Amino acid sequence: MARKYLIETFGCQMNFHDSERMAGLLEQAGYEATKDEADADVIVINTCSVREKAEDKLFTRLGEIHHAGLETGERPIVAVAGCVAQQEGDAILQRSKAVDVIIGTQNLKRLPMLVDGAVQRRESGGRAFPSLDLDPLEDISFPLGLAKRHDSFKAYVTIIEGCNEFCAFCVVPYTRGKERMRPVAEIVADARNAVGTGAREIQLLGQIVNHYQAPDDPSCDFARLLERLNEIDGLERIRFASPHPRHVTPRMIDALRTLPKVCRHLHLPVQSGSTDVLRAMRRRHTREEYLDLVARLRDAMPDIALSTDMIVGFPGERPEDFEQTLSLTETVRYHSMFSFKYSPRPNTLALKRMPDDVAEAEKTRRIVELQALQGRIQMELYLQALGRVEPVLVDARSRRREWELSGRTPGNTIVNFSGDPSWIGRTVPVRITGANPNSLRGEAVT
Ligand code: SF4
Repeated sequence: MARKYLIETFGCQMNFHDSERMAGLLEQAGYEATKDEADADVIVINTCSVREKAEDKLFTRLGEIHHAGLETGERPIVAVAGCVAQQEGDAILQRSKAVDVIIGTQNLKRLPMLVDGAVQRRESGGRAFPSLDLDPLEDISFPLGLAKRHDSFKAYVTIIEGCNEFCAFCVVPYTRGKERMRPVAEIVADARNAVGTGAREIQLLGQIVNHYQAPDDPSCDFARLLERLNEIDGLERIRFASPHPRHVTPRMIDALRTLPKVCRHLHLPVQSGSTDVLRAMRRRHTREEYLDLVARLRDAMPDIALSTDMIVGFPGERPEDFEQTLSLTETVRYHSMFSFKYSPRPNTLALKRMPDDVAEAEKTRRIVELQALQGRIQMELYLQALGRVEPVLVDARSRRREWELSGRTPGNTIVNFSGDPSWIGRTVPVRITGANPNSLRGEAVT
């Protein structure tokens, strides 16, 4: 009988797709998926260290698995993958008895081999030598192998791994390594394969997608890649996350404006509205450059929806810097925003050189004010959409109301409306009839 695996994922889209890749690798090696922990021979915990308390979360989970094993006398093989694994490596093995395999972010392809090794060790008498495979120098990222995608209509497609920017607050360059570009031939084949199995939308993934330069075709930059993907028959929508403001080129703006399948939505992380704070963050763009870019995007596409990431309370952020964040938010009028209070992350420049000098209560005050402002702007934008007919790609039943469907506009706003479940996976015209803080309501136009 085939051994069963269960993957638990914390974190971002990148991690979610890594879990799809690990699922694909384990299934090629003969393992079968299960959703029932009691039934799992192998549990893979795919960790994320971008936010605070990631390690606490991991060790709490490992403790639960360990105690469940003591009670039943049977413990699954446990593998820890992802950014916390890459960063903490051996320290995890020192702290937890529940772990059999630690695998780094750049070594995923060896997961089945390491899990098989752990199974054999277990069968021959114990956990004596857990495996650790973190070597970032041995890059075996590409080719990626076949992912087992969880969403039938939307497919993640990796185009770049790693990042060379080293923003002062960010752990990614330390956990995911230096930037590596995936060959364009492999990206197009992956996208075609996803569309062939039912995907209507692909989302390109990379830390800085718009830095893309194909290693197998000198003429293929990010704009050209979008053109190549736009030609795929059966594909309806192309999205990507995330671009870096300093790598948005006129060619890329033109591709967004002219290619019909590329959604008019840009997630454009800014992180702060103050040039002084941006300099301290090592973002390599100023407030003025960012606002100029937004103006050029809006000139080219007045209907483009923008979203962003914002950090408050970065070391040295003065009240007047925070005011600049508020005023930039007012000026740009984002459709959505991910906002966070700064917290130091392991290895980063900010942790090593910048005292975390904004009091926690002040960080809280600032984030509450920023989120209230963003909530007001978001609602104003939503109310402007009332009466408009939007093409909504239906992806599921609504989470709150069983009888409703849920999908997204090209601008990436969630719309809930009544409809036939057979519409899931189709693009349906929907008239917008109402607005909630984070979604719209509508009715299908027949
Ligand atoms: S661009 Fe900056 S924030 Fe984004 S992944 Fe790279 S280092 Fe992190």
